[in-house]
Amino acid sequence: MIRLYALGSGSAGNAFAVETPEGFLLVDAGFSAKEIERRARRLGLAPERLLAIALTHEHGDHAGGAVRLARKFEVPVLATPGTLSALARQGGAPPRRPLRTSGLVEFGPFSVGCCPILHDAAEPVALAIECGSVRLGVAYDFGRPTAGLRYLLREMDAVVLEANYDELLLRTSDYPPSVQHRIAGSGGHLSNRGTAELLRELFTTRLRTVVLAHLSQRCNTREAAIRTVRPALEIRGFRGRLEVALQDEGLGPLDLTREQGDPSGAEVSAPCPGPEEPGSNRDELWEGRFDEA
Ligand SMILES: [Zn+2]
Ligand SMILES: [Zn+2]
Repeated sequence: MIRLYALGSGSAGNAFAVETPEGFLLVDAGFSAKEIERRARRLGLAPERLLAIALTHEHGDHAGGAVRLARKFEVPVLATPGTLSALARQGGAPPRRPLRTSGLVEFGPFSVGCCPILHDAAEPVALAIECGSVRLGVAYDFGRPTAGLRYLLREMDAVVLEANYDELLLRTSDYPPSVQHRIAGSGGHLSNRGTAELLRELFTTRLRTVVLAHLSQRCNTREAAIRTVRPALEIRGFRGRLEVALQDEGLGPLDLTREQGDPSGAEVSAPCPGPEEPGSNRDELWEGRFDEA
């Protein structure tokens, strides 16, 4: 049995868990350690069963509780060298397993691969987590999907994908135009429409679970995200679960276990081909961080 939980998702904190019979992997730890334990227990996950923590990047809403939690439960943090260095600079040096974009890191029942994303962090990545025959992708805090990200997220059983803002709600928000522009830019956040387009591209019959995440509290609603994304998936033949992970409500468990006879998908363990699409330029894209969107 492989099960997915959302402990919470949004600009004030992100944490997900992938549970196996052996224990669970925390994917991002963007609340205080105490709050993560509280949220895990509320969903029926015993914190003592934590096996490791995989991080997408070092921003507080993704890694705020990671160091303390890793120390307390004596588990490793799986993150890119850049993310690990940034955590160390913030005064934490947890037990570590560096993630590299060129291959998979194995830990317990999990294999974790990653791919660079455009974001104003030290070395931010999207994650692909394999557990038995189940593949789960986690990607947020990026404004445009790259070729590498599309490659990483191919042939997934489940994806946790950012649906940050509704375009109309952003345009009519009280954010000044310059901030709106940057939120909607390449290094900003993915809109509901951007998410719908990406899911339409990524869809295969293997995809059974989609969790929309990191919704803006000011520029999005659960209903707006579902209304935009669902038709794009259904037109491709999606018949699975479409869920939304919210800031303060837990979600799960969602059973990801594959049934016998499920389409097996393509060979999936190769590293991703390249970091970014030609012509993209991080320096132009970022002047600040916009997790607060
Ligand atoms: Zn971030
Ligand atoms: Zn974030």
